[in-house]
Amino acid sequence: MKRILVTGGAGFVGSHLCDRLIQDGHAVICLDNLFTGSRTNIEHLLAHPNFSFIERDVQLPFFAQVDWIFNLACPASPVHYQEDPVETVRTSVLGMINMLELAKSTGARVLQASTSEVYGDPLCHPQDETYWGNVNPISRRACYDEGKRCAETLCFDYHREYGVDVKIIRIFNTYGPRMAKDDGRVVSNFILQALRGEDLTVYGDGSYTRSFQFIDDLIEGMMRMMEADGFTGPVNIGNPHEFTIGELATLVVEMTGSTSKIVHLPPVEHDPKQRKADIALAKEKLSWEPRIPLREGLLKTIVYFRKIL
Ligand code: NAD
Ligand code: UDP
Repeated sequence: MKRILVTGGAGFVGSHLCDRLIQDGHAVICLDNLFTGSRTNIEHLLAHPNFSFIERDVQLPFFAQVDWIFNLACPASPVHYQEDPVETVRTSVLGMINMLELAKSTGARVLQASTSEVYGDPLCHPQDETYWGNVNPISRRACYDEGKRCAETLCFDYHREYGVDVKIIRIFNTYGPRMAKDDGRVVSNFILQALRGEDLTVYGDGSYTRSFQFIDDLIEGMMRMMEADGFTGPVNIGNPHEFTIGELATLVVEMTGSTSKIVHLPPVEHDPKQRKADIALAKEKLSWEPRIPLREGLLKTIVYFRKIL
């Protein structure tokens, strides 16, 4: 049994990770300030003897004797991370320093939840880990992209300077049950719009692409990375199947049996045009690849949103 700290553990990804860790018999401390996460996501774990929840900001130094740290605390959807961009940078950078300091003093292994956004609006397609990215440092997305890039820098500097055992995964768009309703991300938006009979809002002409990964595949990738000795990454964890946003809208309408129309709104400024994960490194080092196709994952997500509508 390991003692494990999960920052951002009451969020979408974090709560699924806590489930998995508890299921595997570990003791989990979930630290979250509930900015975008919610108690509902972890309600079912609160009474578990191996689970404890601490409502706290990751920007504050924190001490606990732990073996593993998963650092997920950070708003992830553009709507939320742009709401208070300075806070977003502080969370990524100060939060990372605090977790690395904790790892330094306890000898814990720390895994940083980085993002495909470090590739920016990529000029290389698909994106592998050797690509350094095309990020505009002064755009509205920069608070997130550059905050996450700096967090990666901090991981490597703590590793080189103090020998901290660091791991970095770059997560590509992930979806599934427990995404927040007001999240604004494309999968939750489209499903909710379809279920409510509202227009599906495609920003731009629908030709931009993303590769969508179901939550269970991400959690498996995170666990394999944390367990792998002698491999810092960064490593991409994402689904390599690329879809246009237009295709996603059509699929959601079909799968929900909705009468909603698909409408086109003006494109969003600095929206990356394409994104597709190159997962050769994850396959080689972690023997990991996603198993759940988009239709299957969407079905589970639709069932979830129908229930909470
Ligand atoms: P989320 O918003 O559901 O979860 C983030 C959690 O962090 C929330 O529970 C929030 O309350 C908490 N949090 C935010 N600021 C905090 C602070 N200062 N102190 C303590 N807690 C704080 O988002 P998610 O989709 O679950 O993302 C989890 C992590 O994975 C994030 O770091 C995100 O950048 C990364 N990621 C997610 C995706 C994705 O598609 N979901 C893609 C790439 C990277
Ligand atoms: N998008 C859209 N309609 C929506 C929400 C998002 O067309 O209601 C588009 C958005 O412009 C982007 C893509 O879907 O091109 C993915 O957006 P999301 O916010 O989910 O993730 P990210 O941009 O961070 O990859």
